[in-house]
Amino acid sequence: MFLTETHMHTAEVSACASASGAFQAEQYKAAGYDTIIITDHFLNGNTTVDRSLPWEQQVENFCVGYENAKKRGDEIGLNVLFGLEYAWSGCDLLVYGVDKKWLLDNPNCLNMDVQEFCDRVHIADGVIVHAHPFREANYIREMKFLPLYTDAVEVYNAGNRMEKWNERADWYAEQYGFVKTAGSDCHHATEKDSENYFGVYTKNKIVTIEDFVRAIKYGEIEALKHR
Ligand SMILES: [Zn+2]
Ligand SMILES: [Zn+2]
Repeated sequence: MFLTETHMHTAEVSACASASGAFQAEQYKAAGYDTIIITDHFLNGNTTVDRSLPWEQQVENFCVGYENAKKRGDEIGLNVLFGLEYAWSGCDLLVYGVDKKWLLDNPNCLNMDVQEFCDRVHIADGVIVHAHPFREANYIREMKFLPLYTDAVEVYNAGNRMEKWNERADWYAEQYGFVKTAGSDCHHATEKDSENYFGVYTKNKIVTIEDFVRAIKYGEIEALKHR
């Protein structure tokens, strides 16, 4: 079985994170993961990227956290892949299967409603995973759901303070028959032996983001609460 982190941030790009991309690669290597997917807050979320810059420069800056993690990962033998966390005012969607080139080719992707954005991701063969759908926090003013645009649901999130938020997410996934994922939502240094490492197991090795997307599409994935 292979262990993948599906949800994590870097200080370079996510304004609420303190762990750099390189540091993230190191701590996940030490924690025994095979693959990590960097999912920084997208340009409509809590980003460090200056939104007044030209689109190409915004995309360049958005990819820096991933690129730093990937560079360190290559040095120490950790597979590092690209994803993003799209913010729909309180509803967070993890997006896998699009890359820097796709972002550069879609300069208007934030000038459309969330449904059209999801359609574009699907046309590009990507997937949408609803992150922590029942989390309660002061930045979440209402709970919103897009079952017709969702491929999977994150049923364990280490950032969920209340276990029942995870239980409700599991109920939602069960109701719709969604594939279930888990993620740490890691922003910071995580204590060794902590219970804050979540992730997914796959039988097949994850080498590319397409491998991960396929695992989601075919449900060849097992959500892991903590390791
Ligand atoms: Zn954050
Ligand atoms: Zn997150």
